[in-house]
Amino acid sequence: MQKEISLKLTPSAAADEASIRQQIAEHTGQGQAAITGFHKLKQSIDARSRQQVWINLTVKAFINEPFQQRSIEPIQFSNVTDSSKKVIIVGAGPAGLFAALKLLELGIKPIVLERGKDVRARRRDLAALNKEGVVNPESNYCFGEGGAGTYSDGKLYTRSNKRGDINRILNLFVQFGAEEKILYEAHPHIGTNKLPHIITAMREAIMAHGGEVLFEKKVTGFMTEGNELKGVQTFDGGLFNAAAVILATGHSARDIFELLYHKNILIEAKPFALGVRIEHPQSIIDAAQYHCLFRGNYLPPASYSLVEQVNGRGVFSFCMCPGGIIAPAATNPGEVVVNGWSPSKRNNPFANSGMVVSVDEESLQGQKLTGSPIDSPLALMNFQQMVEQQSFIAGGGKSVAPALRVVDFCNGKVSQSLPACSYLPGIVPADFRNILPGFVLKSLQEGIKAFGQRMKGYYTNDAVVVATESRTSSPVRIPRNNDNLQHPQIRNLYPCGEGAGYAGGIVSACMDGERVAGMIASVISA
Ligand SMILES: Cc1cc2nc3c(=O)[nH]c(=O)nc-3n(C[C@H](O)[C@H](O)[C@H](O)COP(=O)(O)OP(=O)(O)OC[C@H]3O[C@@H](n4cnc5c(N)ncnc54)[C@H](O)[C@@H]3O)c2cc1C
Repeated sequence: MQKEISLKLTPSAAADEASIRQQIAEHTGQGQAAITGFHKLKQSIDARSRQQVWINLTVKAFINEPFQQRSIEPIQFSNVTDSSKKVIIVGAGPAGLFAALKLLELGIKPIVLERGKDVRARRRDLAALNKEGVVNPESNYCFGEGGAGTYSDGKLYTRSNKRGDINRILNLFVQFGAEEKILYEAHPHIGTNKLPHIITAMREAIMAHGGEVLFEKKVTGFMTEGNELKGVQTFDGGLFNAAAVILATGHSARDIFELLYHKNILIEAKPFALGVRIEHPQSIIDAAQYHCLFRGNYLPPASYSLVEQVNGRGVFSFCMCPGGIIAPAATNPGEVVVNGWSPSKRNNPFANSGMVVSVDEESLQGQKLTGSPIDSPLALMNFQQMVEQQSFIAGGGKSVAPALRVVDFCNGKVSQSLPACSYLPGIVPADFRNILPGFVLKSLQEGIKAFGQRMKGYYTNDAVVVATESRTSSPVRIPRNNDNLQHPQIRNLYPCGEGAGYAGGIVSACMDGERVAGMIASVISA
């Protein structure tokens, strides 16, 4: 017999197979020998009680019958070496790679053009960025194989469950080497140390089945005939023809947005979120969330998710990284952008999170603008860049980031000294009035104070805010038709993923890549 059972366990019992078996036996009234094994189906932490943190675990138990290992039917890919159907994918981020895999599954040859380098070569550019503050505009935390997803935190949860099949995406990650626990944990996480191997395995599979993945191939032009896209041009003069082009260049490809704008291809301004990254000692977050002095050996470093309305504007935490590192995520010299990641074990002593405020076209009224007028589709993008440049100037160069202690920040004071921080290029105290627009600054100050009332220890000068968290989502949308997912003006152009405004995070970008690839297959085969 197989039976689904929900258990409520202490953290130490949940980490111990024998204890779980014993609980199953008690729950089913069977002897322990009758329990031949179990699969974990769902696991989450319940820290609501002040006395005890519980682990809620749902298992499928095998009782009085042979145990069967969990088996995931691997997705099969066709060999497309000789396929006459070709699709160009611009960008090898999660959207581009999952589009390529889906095309392979459907017997269509994907040709992926990526401006950056493969994961291994990219690592050297990240080292230079962290150690010397040098930004390579083609190879950084956002650009290169796997896109912004490779050296990301690798949190794989999403609220976009209507956009596609989340389990299929998670299964594919497991097929390419992720641990099975991402299939049952409530907040699955891979970690920056493991993602590059998974991305490499995906590329190897694409190439082994006859697809192509070409690095250092920045797309700089579109080949059109009338309103039909025939292919793309790369910076080195290369021309690539195809029946369809998937444009999955991510939220940081400002040159692509500019190219579309200057070619009069319709794009729209899109609200994004702007703010800071806030970093606390992990022990403060653990104590607040688990109501204890030490979290012990069995609980993971605690996370949080906070949201507050301040004067009609939402202030919210974003991309929280327990046991993490603040990363330099700029894509151009002369900008400071921060983001966060954590290794699979989340064993760094700090907890960081984006803390941001929504910025839309209306918020630009009365603001200093550079680059384009307020009604331009590029206005929000240029505003985003201007704030990043102000942050660079305040940091004094070499990707050093302006920072303040949290209480000082909230009270408009410039800190005399700063606490230890995980951001490797370094931090310096600065006057944030020279960096963030007044409405963002004020909302953050009030929001963080309010969070301090909800979470013990959160509002403390032992924590630090670092500017700027600005690449939260794309400040531009590339529109597409609902029925065929093509650009409304340009046939065969398929805007895709986060940069086009159809995803926010790894899983939703993967799902969008699959969706667009599926649509192209049906259009090509019709
Ligand atoms: C440090 C960090 C941590 C993150 N942590 C998480 C997390 O834990 N969970 C989560 O869900 N999300 C996280 N994200 C966000 C996530 O990585 C993105 O949402 C996701 O990668 C978007 O996928 P995408 O394929 O749409 O675009 P991208 O990943 O941005 O990929 C776009 C690709 O296009 C390429 N490209 C751009 N222009 C051109 C051109 N002209 N020619 C050729 N190629 C081009 C780029 O080099 C890039 O490889 C994080 C991001 C960062 C930077």
